[in-house]
Amino acid sequence: MSARLELEGVSHRYSRDEWALSELSLAVEPGELVAFLGPSGCGKTTALKILSGLLTPTGGDVRVDGRSVLGVPPERREAAMVFQKPLLFPHMSVEANVGFGLKMRGVPRGESGGKVETALRRVRMDGYADRKPGELSGGQQQRVALARALVTEPGLLLLDEPLSSLDANLREGMRELVKEVQESGGYTTVFVTHDQEEAVVLADRIALLFDGRLRMYDRPQAFYERPASREVAEFFGTANFLPGRARNGTVETRLGDLRLSTPTPPGEVTLTIRPEAVRFEEGENSFAARITSTTYLGTQVTCGLDAAGVQLKASLPPHTQLREGDRVTARLPAESLWALEDGPEGQPG
Ligand code: ATP
Repeated sequence: MSARLELEGVSHRYSRDEWALSELSLAVEPGELVAFLGPSGCGKTTALKILSGLLTPTGGDVRVDGRSVLGVPPERREAAMVFQKPLLFPHMSVEANVGFGLKMRGVPRGESGGKVETALRRVRMDGYADRKPGELSGGQQQRVALARALVTEPGLLLLDEPLSSLDANLREGMRELVKEVQESGGYTTVFVTHDQEEAVVLADRIALLFDGRLRMYDRPQAFYERPASREVAEFFGTANFLPGRARNGTVETRLGDLRLSTPTPPGEVTLTIRPEAVRFEEGENSFAARITSTTYLGTQVTCGLDAAGVQLKASLPPHTQLREGDRVTARLPAESLWALEDGPEGQPG
């Protein structure tokens, strides 16, 4: 049965003066896949260890289906974890490795055989039951580790960078498998990664952490379209930033008065727009600009633009004819402009 997971003000410190995790509060709905994303050291693994019961937080509460699980030891939680390294017992067959959790729970042999077979089939490892882990590739070992987690039908599936030790081709295949297994089984899943693309591809929602704090929790698309801060926008790739002052429905900037499709409260703001949203055409929010650089990247060309001393970046299709020094009309479509409130995190830098 998929569980509903709630974290309320979860904080942890390993040493006296440093908080590895600060006041983390969020809910994961039954059957949802949430990615904990952030740079190295931001607290992702700490959070996952707390969810699995391997670590007791310094403060806050973790609830599964409304009940606190803080006093419950890992083996008695309805959670299964897959680590970065497969961690299989080397002397045991694939079948015995996958069945180990069932044995520990006292599931009778007759019953466990069928469950192990089903779990191996789901990760497409049926036919490998008699092999030892040493006779499998890294990707296959990780699939066995996933089967071992699934075999107990956990309410909560916890994945700690399970794809990061695989090479790029294998990783893509594994991503699809994880998504397929998670969706068909309806497991409530928390997936830890530092790879933004992986989080976007896999997750229903992303929890972005910096320095142990939750900076944004939303659907992947929202991180591109309406980032919570400049820091968030930058983590999700190159974005343009333009200071301005919002009043009467428009934002005064050095490029003129720009209209946004979302209402903006009056005051100082930083506008942001992604390079791929910049257009080269006349119309609303258009202005004269000069091309300052072009960089061919195979699937696209990145252009540097100078407009009234403001530097912007635009992405264009690879066959573009624009050259450095060309004079153009550029346009920032209202629906692609987003106003960041200027605050400690939104400060133009
Ligand atoms: P990575 O992606 O590199 O695994 P992470 O986001 O998972 O990083 P954590 O492992 O949760 O980060 O670490 C968060 C902070 O807590 C870091 O500053 C780290 O140095 C510190 N930390 C982690 N484990 C311990 C520990 N056992 N003792 C002391 N400090 C620790």
